[in-house]
Amino acid sequence: MTSPGTSSNPLRVAIVGSGPSGFYAADALQKKPDLVVEIDMFDRLPTPFGLVRGGVAPDHQKIKSVTKVYERIAAQPSFRFYGNVEFGKDITHDEIMAHYHAVIYTVGAQTDKHLGIPGEDLPGSLPATEFVAWYNGHPDYHDLQFDLSAEAAAVVGIGNVAMDVARILARSIDELKKTDMADYAIAALEKSNIKTIYILGRRGPVQAAFTDPEIKEMGEMEVADVVVGPDEVRLDPASQAYLDKGEDAVARRNMEHLRRYAENPTSGKPKKIVFRFCVSPVELIGTDKVEAVKIVKNELVQNEKGDIRPRATDQFETLPVGMVFRSVGYRGLPLPGVPFYEGWGTIPNDKGRILTDHKDGQVVPGEYVSGWIKRGPSGVIGTNKPDSVETVEMLIEDMAAGKLHDPAQPGRESVDKLLAGRGVRVVTFADWQILDQIETARGAAQGRPRVKMTTVKEMLDALAEHHQAAPAGS
Ligand code: NAP
Repeated sequence: MTSPGTSSNPLRVAIVGSGPSGFYAADALQKKPDLVVEIDMFDRLPTPFGLVRGGVAPDHQKIKSVTKVYERIAAQPSFRFYGNVEFGKDITHDEIMAHYHAVIYTVGAQTDKHLGIPGEDLPGSLPATEFVAWYNGHPDYHDLQFDLSAEAAAVVGIGNVAMDVARILARSIDELKKTDMADYAIAALEKSNIKTIYILGRRGPVQAAFTDPEIKEMGEMEVADVVVGPDEVRLDPASQAYLDKGEDAVARRNMEHLRRYAENPTSGKPKKIVFRFCVSPVELIGTDKVEAVKIVKNELVQNEKGDIRPRATDQFETLPVGMVFRSVGYRGLPLPGVPFYEGWGTIPNDKGRILTDHKDGQVVPGEYVSGWIKRGPSGVIGTNKPDSVETVEMLIEDMAAGKLHDPAQPGRESVDKLLAGRGVRVVTFADWQILDQIETARGAAQGRPRVKMTTVKEMLDALAEHHQAAPAGS
């Protein structure tokens, strides 16, 4: 057998996960000159695009147009989509290894980090990740209920996910009705009583993780004022010195927006988004559900490495809120048969080559990783492109060195046979395009980008109905 990558022995790569990092990995493989490659992309959902569909905020439609790029990648003859196929259940790790020269895991980070404070388990204490997945119509979160009857909510964390959550809570129902937010979420938010949204940052505005377009947008809300008290933008000497260096343009622009908010009076809109910096929740208070959050004021201190860190003072305050969303970062989950480093919630790797262990691990031949499950939950969608290019470079280097896995059954038909034998209803990319058309047509009728299907059953039923009406090949 010749080495893989030729027409007599195409390089067979499985990509597990169909979010941005998966598509950028496929793209990097397709762009290798003279490489003959077969890419099979698996996703446990019938729908592709990962966080672009299930994470990007519904009022940020422009960001979602990146899927046009992914559609072009999917249209290449080298590419096949295996939607509705769960790794570890419908196809195991060993079965993947029996069918492919290499596998790239691009499964993202599906769960959230905790605060570790008393009261965190009370009803009304919620992970932002679940709220985001729910309003975006992710089938796993379709059945969640959010009690939005309180007058005030708090969002802990000052990253862009916190901005998304706060914005969605502060939008008018007319604004939401123009989006592709799940219908059940629009209906629930229509009855929302929340008027005040606190955003709580443990460090100061200069250390905020949000970016300037997001903080600018806060000042442009239809029915919500943004409230920044004058004390919130008064900087400690270390933060001021950092800003004065002029090396962090995002922090400078963030400060300009926040200072503008602090100087301008509010305009009496019915809702308000209140920024509080240098505070940490220490307890969620309530008997049957969250009724308040106790916060401690922090001071900022520079450690020996020069990092500006929060240190609790003895000043406490209690904010009456009925909901607390923790938005302090996502975390990856382990995949069956694949190494995992609990400490960071990532798959241990060296530039994308999977290692048996986080410390001094050996390379696992033929297994690679990219995206949030490789580097942790950071960066924007585009950050995944160079990340996946790096991973694919390692894969190609290993192929040239004869270090890839040698699959026992290197044929596409045998994967299909295996899944068919298990009764798995594989959703192809052509199937997804049918679902896409149905959703966008429903949306067009309502002046919305799409009306999402939010259960797997609904999607499979719609496909069955479509194929019954127009049998393939007819
Ligand atoms: P993130 O950017 O890492 O922000 C996490 C926030 O949580 C930080 O403010 C962090 O503060 C805070 N935090 C962590 N532990 C905490 C604790 N124990 N108590 C209080 N605060 C704590 O994460 P993210 O918001 O989940 O976003 C993930 C990635 O997706 C980011 O790269 C983000 O930019 C990106 N994203 C982009 C967009 C967009 O482009 N519009 C939208 C959504 C998400 P410290 O800094 O003090 O640790």
